[in-house]
Amino acid sequence: MISFEEARSTILSSVNVCGVERVPLLDAVGRILAEDVTAPWNMPLWDNSAMDGYAVRSADCSKIPCQLVVTGFLPAGARADGVTVEAGSAVRIMTGAPTPFGCDAVVPVEETDDGQQLVTLNEMVEKGQHLRLCGEDVQAGSAFVRAGALIRPPEVNMLATFGMAMVPVYRRPVVAILSTGDELIELGKTPGPGEIINSNALSLAAAVRETGAIPRIIGIARDNLGSHRELLLEGLKADVLITSAGVSAGDCDFVRDVLEELGARQLFWKVGVKPGGPTAFALHGAIPVFSLPGNPVSTMMTFEEFARPALLKMMGHQRVLRPLFKAVLCEEVRKKAGKVQIVRVRLERDGKRWLASSAGNQQTAILKTMVDAAALAILPADSTVFAAGEEVDVHFYGSHIDLI
Ligand code: AMP
Ligand code: MG
Repeated sequence: MISFEEARSTILSSVNVCGVERVPLLDAVGRILAEDVTAPWNMPLWDNSAMDGYAVRSADCSKIPCQLVVTGFLPAGARADGVTVEAGSAVRIMTGAPTPFGCDAVVPVEETDDGQQLVTLNEMVEKGQHLRLCGEDVQAGSAFVRAGALIRPPEVNMLATFGMAMVPVYRRPVVAILSTGDELIELGKTPGPGEIINSNALSLAAAVRETGAIPRIIGIARDNLGSHRELLLEGLKADVLITSAGVSAGDCDFVRDVLEELGARQLFWKVGVKPGGPTAFALHGAIPVFSLPGNPVSTMMTFEEFARPALLKMMGHQRVLRPLFKAVLCEEVRKKAGKVQIVRVRLERDGKRWLASSAGNQQTAILKTMVDAAALAILPADSTVFAAGEEVDVHFYGSHIDLI
């Protein structure tokens, strides 16, 4: 048995970042930029007005109120070549329009009488006010988004601003999902005696999709060697293989043996974590193979703690673990020494602290508690008693935090 931390570091040091592909800008959302992108031009491209108002020479406006002759009009989209603000004059200008030669300030229309031929200014004018200067946001040639950046709407806006229709991002791995067990039937059928619906395939596919990777459900391997061989081989055609169940020490647990027969190199089996103890991890060539326990709660938790960070690393993410923060326990928790325990909790804000209370019955067979959990508390292996009022490490579970 290896520790929870060792298991995770073994996995993370065994997986590599996927290759790079160029995709249309909108398809890059949520993905990681694979190359620095430099600005092909300045932003703003030219000096322009930050307000609707009048382009003026500030020296003309030292006494307030002052009156200027309006000599021109520059709406957004107009060109300013040949337009000059002469001494004693002003050019009416709209937000975003290029500023004319000679002007060193813009006076907002609200601070004037809105005159058409003559305009009276009512407020003091400061040199440089309400001007957006060429290159003040981004200079031509500078890297405005770096390799490793997560592409969100602001990055999309910036990339679009500089005309980037196609964007280099890391590829999304195809993740094969294989369920095992004679008791399983597919969603859509009604379970008869001894049967259960293959729900793990769906929750794994959902979790894979949440990371941004591409799930591919392979089906159900039956509890015999032939069926395992056939479907594991199919799964090994993907970039990553995740199996559920059949990985403990039971008579019908064939996953590890058949993977070995097919040439996979097991890096560990059995981890000091509860739920999730029987988890195994192997490499088949460069393909990571996660063999997760079959109990739906264990499957989801081991995906969360082991497979998710690996998939994120493969897609180029720099931060692959959810940030841990402290929460105060509302009730005492006892556990055995020797294994990390993962507790499903609800969170509540109390002034500056988070309060964590149990989301329900913590037995691994209780799926409902997982549904009610906003976060997971990670209790360290060596401790046994956590008093009410004690602080523990927690992280959010899932990308939706409506449960808080
Ligand atoms: P096993 O590791 O094969 O002993 O399975 C452990 C438990 O998980 C058993 O109660 C199984 O019925 C359940 N289980 C296994 N595979 C799935 C699945 N695909 N969906 C839902 N439950 C499953
Ligand atoms: Mg089984």
